[in-house]
Amino acid sequence: MTDSYELARTKKIVTVGKVLSTLVIVAQFLIIVLYHFDIWTSQKKMLLALGLLPWVRYIYALIFSKITCWDECNEKDKDYKVRSTALWKETHIEFFNGFAFFQDIILLYDMIALFMVAQTYKGFSKIIILWVAIFLIMMLIGFFRIEGKDKKNQMIYYGFIMAIFIGLTVNTTCYYLSAPARHEDCTFVSKSTTHSTKGGTHYYVTVRLQDGTEYESMVGKTLYQKAEETELVACHREGPLGIEYLRVHGS
Ligand SMILES: [Zn+2]
Repeated sequence: MTDSYELARTKKIVTVGKVLSTLVIVAQFLIIVLYHFDIWTSQKKMLLALGLLPWVRYIYALIFSKITCWDECNEKDKDYKVRSTALWKETHIEFFNGFAFFQDIILLYDMIALFMVAQTYKGFSKIIILWVAIFLIMMLIGFFRIEGKDKKNQMIYYGFIMAIFIGLTVNTTCYYLSAPARHEDCTFVSKSTTHSTKGGTHYYVTVRLQDGTEYESMVGKTLYQKAEETELVACHREGPLGIEYLRVHGS
């Protein structure tokens, strides 16, 4: 009696978890699409939403940590057979599945957008301190919440996910809290590209700022191609904790 009740309850928790995960993924895709169709007009709010929404999944999983598996299971693992059964899947929250795939695509989009707009000019150490502090707190929470004989392995996967998403959340939140942009004229100095096998090509423009210093900013391909004949401006944003963002765009 108690067992069947417990089983039904566990299945419900897993189902609710899947519904929540689906909503979180769909909401993120929707926000990105709406932003690109100029319906959702604030890029700051879009980035903040993308930084915060994934936490719904992580917090839910931490609440029901007894039935959550943070790690990946492949054919070589000895519990692969157990974890492949329908009953096991109905009674466990897994992190490496279709949701992770879609979340990764969104993460990639998010990171590229952040690299472009939230280029830290000053105070990057503050971001790192916040990042590390929150990471340590979340690892402590994970340490007390995550159970099971493969706890060590799960903690590694959990730590990996936390490191990435805390970084994302800290960066988007600080950027969200920044003041409206202040523009100053700057002059074109040079431009360059870097190629990476995974991330494609990155474009940079170096300019001379009003204070005489040179600054290299990541830019889009279009601006890169027309950099010499474009009137460039340095776009400053004052963030919290003395953080300052600076990027270059056309006036
Ligand atoms: Zn600007």
